[in-house]
Amino acid sequence: MITHAQCVAWLRGFADIIDANKTFLTDLDSAIGDADHGTNMARGMKAVVKKLHGAGTPPLGAMFKSAGMTLVGTVGGSSGPLYGTFFMKLGMALGEVKDASLPTFAAALKAGCDGVTARSRTAVGEKTMVDALTPAADAFEAAVDDGPLAAAEAAAAAARQGRDEGIPLVARKGRASYLGERSAGHQDPGATSATYLFEALATALREG
Ligand code: ADP
Ligand code: MG
Repeated sequence: MITHAQCVAWLRGFADIIDANKTFLTDLDSAIGDADHGTNMARGMKAVVKKLHGAGTPPLGAMFKSAGMTLVGTVGGSSGPLYGTFFMKLGMALGEVKDASLPTFAAALKAGCDGVTARSRTAVGEKTMVDALTPAADAFEAAVDDGPLAAAEAAAAAARQGRDEGIPLVARKGRASYLGERSAGHQDPGATSATYLFEALATALREG
């Protein structure tokens, strides 16, 4: 079971880790993009957390859909609509429940991730956030029998691996693709923030 309180802690924890690393994310984006990923995501997640205040305990579907819409509305650039899609699809898959069974949560993570790949028409290996998201959602699903924390830790480890395997690759999507071969050797900012997303999930489950 993944509880409502753990889902709230996940969103808050993601906002915190983004805020703590916003300069790093923006530095990564300055090398292969336009130097705004950290500020974009920090602004968006701050708005998401603000909306959680006083919201009570809405069904998980409503909570994550609201988070997704807030990201679409407050984050400029490509990452806002993509993270927005992730959270909206996650919410749609969770629906009216306040706590989610582990298989339901795993399927919802997969739905979120599939929403991003469908919207961006991006696959693993094109040096984007998908390099971390897709293996993480798959690893979570593969580890559900080991319990929530083990599944989230497996997902975070898979995200880190996907992020790192993307470093030598040439970007095929997004602004970094404008650099062509010169994008190789740089860590993708979106794959880095997507790794934080799963690290924040593991932390929320470990502590709650
Ligand atoms: P922008 O590129 O518009 O400035 P951000 O800097 O906030 O937006 O986000 C950049 C990140 O978004 C990239 O590092 C990459 O991971 C992700 N991204 C950009 N375009 C795509 C795409 N088409 N598919 C998947 N991810 C993408
Ligand atoms: Mg950018």
